[in-house]
Amino acid sequence: MELKSKLASAHTTIFTEVSALASRHGAVNLGQGFPDFDPPDTLLSLVAKHTKGHTHQYAPMAGLTSLREAIANKVGTLYGYGPDPEAEVTITAGATQALFTAITALVHPGDEVIIFEPAYDSYRPSIELSGGKAIPYRMEPPGFEIDWRRVAALVTNRTRMLIINTPHNPTGTILRAGDIEQLLLLVRNTDILILSDEVYEHLVYDGENHQSVIRYPELYSRSLAVFSFGKTYHATGWKLGYVIAPSWLTTEYRKVHQWNVFSVNSVFQYALAEYMEDKDHYLSLCDFYKTKKDLFRSLLDGTGFRPLGCHGTFFQVCDYCDISDKQDTDFARELIVRHKVAAIPMSVFYSQPTDMKLVRFCFAKKEETLQHAGDRLRSVS
Ligand code: PMP
Ligand code: GLN
Repeated sequence: MELKSKLASAHTTIFTEVSALASRHGAVNLGQGFPDFDPPDTLLSLVAKHTKGHTHQYAPMAGLTSLREAIANKVGTLYGYGPDPEAEVTITAGATQALFTAITALVHPGDEVIIFEPAYDSYRPSIELSGGKAIPYRMEPPGFEIDWRRVAALVTNRTRMLIINTPHNPTGTILRAGDIEQLLLLVRNTDILILSDEVYEHLVYDGENHQSVIRYPELYSRSLAVFSFGKTYHATGWKLGYVIAPSWLTTEYRKVHQWNVFSVNSVFQYALAEYMEDKDHYLSLCDFYKTKKDLFRSLLDGTGFRPLGCHGTFFQVCDYCDISDKQDTDFARELIVRHKVAAIPMSVFYSQPTDMKLVRFCFAKKEETLQHAGDRLRSVS
């Protein structure tokens, strides 16, 4: 039988590939972005408590009311606008599902969606499965800044959506107020929607603020903002997150969400709702990761890896041109197989061939893991 693939050029994600290779070769895995430590004990106790309750049947389609209320309170405190939990907050099976569902709900065949490369790998296939076309804006090292006039040049009468991601995976850059102002000017008087991937909202360093689209009423009125409990509570395996959008967009979002997942894991929603009553849990996250970032960067001192700026996320991009002139995919493979440290090659986040001699390390790891990786990286030459 002949099968016409809906994603003919797709292959297994780089994160799966690198993690499998790392485990086969006993490498310290600084590739795929996940912590090697557990969620806080209090949260785990709440999960245990709610597992014993009558919490095991379907949650409401949009998510548990108490959790949506807790999220609305948090958002109001952080970004100055408290969304209506009933009409503007939806609990999702992680950010990946939220992004996929939002794109499926809003992108029509032939629509163009502007993405910023290097781009998180789920955006493009999600767009293509909806019959849309991803239009990449290419960001360049070392700063990966965005020239908004060049973005404007990519806009056509088919542009339906623009996907932003701040703090940005994989580069560790952030959008600042000036970027948001220019973005606003770009989309004003157009029908362009914004899908804003904000899963690293709490990981912004050096006293800067996270520029959520929710802070900007005019921008928010055409935006969907996506978040992940996985990043905030060291629980990537729970696959829980949420999307916040004005009611007219939430209505469209939920039309698809209900056929996509209907509702998501109930027990963990009860636990998270109770846990979120204490806001210190997320406010301390930035300092927690800043310590890890500083440690990892100091460990790179004695190596041939040159770290680029890291203003947000738990990723550190490094230039390895003093060590090797190999293509990054080959270099990353050799790093795993010979030196037993896993990193993600940067070129996989671009749609066009690139050879920037950059790799991405994840520093969401225990101190001893980072020390161990540092020891091995010092021997790479
Ligand atoms: N967006 C970005 C930028 C990410 O880095 C990730 C994952 N790590 C996701 C979305 C997906 O998050 P989740 O695991 O909640 O699906
Ligand atoms: N977001 C994580 C990363 O960038 C991985 C998520 C995944 O494996 N799907 O490493």
